[in-house]
Amino acid sequence: MKPAGFLCNIDNLGRILIPAPIRKTFEINGGDTFEVFTDEDGIMLKKYSPVCIFCGSADNITSFKGKMVCEKCIKKLSALAED
Ligand SMILES: [Zn+2]
Repeated sequence: MKPAGFLCNIDNLGRILIPAPIRKTFEINGGDTFEVFTDEDGIMLKKYSPVCIFCGSADNITSFKGKMVCEKCIKKLSALAED
C-alpha cells in the first residue's frame, strides 16, 4: 500500500469520512459493505464483493446458510440431489 495523500479524522462513534476523490476512484457508494483487514502496519478496508464458495464467480450470488453460492452451482447441486 502507498499513502493516498489524505488525512481523515475519526469521530466519537468510530466513523471516518472517506475523501470524495477516493470514493470516486474506487466507485464507493453509500450503503456499500467493506471487509476490514489488519496487520502489524495498520488497517485496510476493501470493498466487499461476495463470490461463490465453489467456483469463485461473482454473478447471481445467493446466501445459503451463511455461505455465498452462485446460481450455476445451485443448479449443479440440485442436479446431484435428484440422482
Ligand atoms: Zn459457483
